Amino acid sequence: MPPSSATSTNPSTRPCPCDSGKPFARCCEPFLTGKEAPRTVKQLMRSRYTAFALGGYGNYLHATWHPNTVGMVMAEDLDVAEIPWVGLTILDDEQKGDRGRVEFKTRYRDDDGVEHVHHEHSAFLRVNGKWLYLEGKVREE
Ligand SMILES: [Zn+2]
Repeated sequence: MPPSSATSTNPSTRPCPCDSGKPFARCCEPFLTGKEAPRTVKQLMRSRYTAFALGGYGNYLHATWHPNTVGMVMAEDLDVAEIPWVGLTILDDEQKGDRGRVEFKTRYRDDDGVEHVHHEHSAFLRVNGKWLYLEGKVREE
């Protein structure tokens, strides 16, 4: 597994991994630490991407995953930054009442340094005022 630069330094002052252009501390960090709750599906999407990219936020990923679709996945399983994500692009997002969806592309590099694109349509549901990830459909590039 390649070394993660995220764990070696305090990422708070660095640009947020979600490519928002904002510092981590003023972007996804308040969501990941539970200080704030995402108000839009886009914010939830970005923060979940950041949690996956940085690792160590399994509890957040688990807590923002709909119980009907999280299945046997445990918070500890989500702690590991398994895939070296290098970028996020949100292509489209929509919210209607308590339903939302986001179309996005994420990029990662494999062991040979070759960049790959993951293109997904994610669906979200708002339950008791809290946005949750429901499911995703991966689009073949
Ligand atoms: Zn962010």
